[in-house]
Amino acid sequence: MSNIEQTLSIIKPDAVERNLQDQIKTEFKNKGFEIVKEKKLHISKDEAEKFYKVHESKPFYNDLCTYLSSGPIVVMILQKENAILDNRKFMGATNPQEAEVGTIRKKYGISIDKNSVHGSDNLENSKIEIDFFFKD
Ligand code: ADP
Ligand code: MG
Repeated sequence: MSNIEQTLSIIKPDAVERNLQDQIKTEFKNKGFEIVKEKKLHISKDEAEKFYKVHESKPFYNDLCTYLSSGPIVVMILQKENAILDNRKFMGATNPQEAEVGTIRKKYGISIDKNSVHGSDNLENSKIEIDFFFKD
């Protein structure tokens, strides 16, 4: 049975700053993801705090929100069979140093905070995150 899903992907400020967005988009397309919608934007710290609310209690929350709002990002809806889990696998571990060879974070990530991409971690969050950026 087919299980076409959509997930939210973000190309984070460190990657946009290095002008890697086209290369990363090509990586996703080559892996079979369709980019259904995309936009480039620069969010405020308040918006970043709302987006990352689940991490509110973490020691890195403030830095994380400052970082995500520090420069332009590219947000995308990615679609394919099992998109949510496959995107998580293709992104690699949160810490690029621990990410497997061939993953986006291994290739492009700089550090645990500047790890180049975000991806929804489950079906419920994918819907919330897609709505966050694309509800009109
Ligand atoms: P992921 O992005 O892999 O889903 P998390 O949801 O756990 O990871 O964390 C969200 C983001 O917060 C990470 O992508 C990373 O940029 C940042 N982060 C996570 N853990 C740390 C940490 N220990 N120190 C600094 N930043 C962190
Ligand atoms: Mg996460």
